[in-house]
Amino acid sequence: MKSPARLLMAASCAVALLSAPTAAWSAGKTTADKPASVNCAKVKCIALTFDDGPGKYADRLLDTLKKHKAKATFFLEGQYVKSRPAFARRMADEGHELGNHSYTHAHLREADDDRIREELTRTQDIVKQVTGKSPTMIRPPYGELDDRVQAIATEMRLPIVLWNGGSRDWATRNEKAIYDEVLKNAKRDGVILMHDWVEQTVKVMPKLLDALRKQGYHVVSVSSLRGGGNLQPGDIYPAGTDDATLSAEAPDDGF
Ligand SMILES: [Zn+2]
Repeated sequence: MKSPARLLMAASCAVALLSAPTAAWSAGKTTADKPASVNCAKVKCIALTFDDGPGKYADRLLDTLKKHKAKATFFLEGQYVKSRPAFARRMADEGHELGNHSYTHAHLREADDDRIREELTRTQDIVKQVTGKSPTMIRPPYGELDDRVQAIATEMRLPIVLWNGGSRDWATRNEKAIYDEVLKNAKRDGVILMHDWVEQTVKVMPKLLDALRKQGYHVVSVSSLRGGGNLQPGDIYPAGTDDATLSAEAPDDGF
């Protein structure tokens, strides 16, 4: 069941998407993470996104992604970029997309405006300092969003990216369950939420990437998806995030 709050949010997502005009935001973006051979208008694409990192298994995950020629999107926490700078650098160097997931995994809806700005700008700053690249999108922790968070994202010239398929990896911590859940939720241009601190996620990834490929998917960054490449500051993407998928977010103590 969708709560009224979520329905409201879903409605505002739809409005944001409908009102999204053209390509100002993407104009300055690098295309390094968009292999010329993948055109999601022509082939079936999906985006795997990893929150809360760089997690402790990120290195192994990056090896697997490289081997499978897959690109991911990492929503990084500033505090872990500081403690695991080499992993963050590797993500950037290997052409993965970087997003902002706040500095301390804060509940942004409960924070005042100054705190929201601080959580987000500190993360922008440390990612830039460590990798040479600034995150190009925000995913608020727990998917918690309100008008103030959206206004500050707009002020920072960044779109907001949620998800429309969970993996429940943090909850099940089970390779088969993660594999089944992702394949159940996989759809063309879908955005799947996972975590690179969950060991079972990283362990099952080779098998999962093989299965996705077998189903015809190209695993690409969010901005490579149809509709993901021309997002405007403050836009919310993708539409269709509901309670069930939002509940697949990690708890604070998941580390
Ligand atoms: Zn998170």
